[in-house]
Amino acid sequence: AVPLVVAINTTMAAQNGMLIRDRIAMEEARNLDTIVFDKTGTLTKGEQGVVDVATTDGWDEAELLSLMAAAEGDSEHMIAEAIRDEADERGLSVPDVREFEALEGRGVRATVDAEPAATPDVNGGPAEDGETVSVGGPNLLRYLDVALDPDLEAFAAEAGERGRGVVYLLRNGEAVGAVALADVIREESYEAIDALHEMNVEVAMLTGDTEDVARAVSAELEIDTYFAEVLPADKDEKIVELQEQGKLVSMVGDGVNDAPALTRSDVGIAIGSGTDVAVESADVVLVENDPRDVAHLVGLSRKSYRKMQ
Ligand code: ADP
Ligand code: MG
Repeated sequence: AVPLVVAINTTMAAQNGMLIRDRIAMEEARNLDTIVFDKTGTLTKGEQGVVDVATTDGWDEAELLSLMAAAEGDSEHMIAEAIRDEADERGLSVPDVREFEALEGRGVRATVDAEPAATPDVNGGPAEDGETVSVGGPNLLRYLDVALDPDLEAFAAEAGERGRGVVYLLRNGEAVGAVALADVIREESYEAIDALHEMNVEVAMLTGDTEDVARAVSAELEIDTYFAEVLPADKDEKIVELQEQGKLVSMVGDGVNDAPALTRSDVGIAIGSGTDVAVESADVVLVENDPRDVAHLVGLSRKSYRKMQ
């Protein structure tokens, strides 16, 4: 028979969006020393977003973004979507596009209706009725032999160090502004890590992404340790390393490549709309894509244990 207290807590867990697949692991959660989070899709949204904007003289961010969003209007590229989302979130009005051309692997070129808000009075006089601009990455700059002014050069260098991609707006053969794109950290991740630290749980991050990106994300979230550039097949070894230091370890992830680490860890937690393989390998499934539920789980396990004594 299932002890009553466990049954009650399983119900409570379910009400909090946690599906307990292994009750022992649920009990063990109260003693966890270290929680290892997968980065992409778990601590971050796993999709590109605009994280920084740079303008040159005579331009403001709104003008730049509405023109970029217009030019990207007909592109299906993930970068185009990120730029349109940013313009949308800022409530910008985006001018119409008359002609559009995808520059495969480089960017887009479009002729955009001139609107007062989108066409600043730079490079002399009022803008004509409609103008042709291009949006693209460093490869487009090289292709068109466009040089950057020192401010944009510095912006690109910093973005590069942080592992971000940069996309430029070109007008009259000149780069007039740029956006930096990165996988966006979930708002909930900050609170999740704070809460775990308050419970004296160490937080680590495991990712296949570059050292630069991993360092930036873990500094931003105040994560204690990170493992970068870890191949999918090596993820579970990092869990073993921590366990060999005598730690009780939980792995939190969503992907197929997290499955071996989920299985290996003492409490495997699949998060959100995780892949089936991740779910099958986990002891606990968090229904929402909300890393704060990891802290809730530890809290619930601790409360249950106190009641049982
Ligand atoms: P990927 O995006 O997978 O790296 P692509 O061949 O689609 O490969 O694009 C290569 C690069 O060209 C992108 O990283 C970006 O710098 C630029 N690029 C492509 N399409 C666009 C677009 N619609 N808007 C801006 N830049 C683009
Ligand atoms: Mg992932």
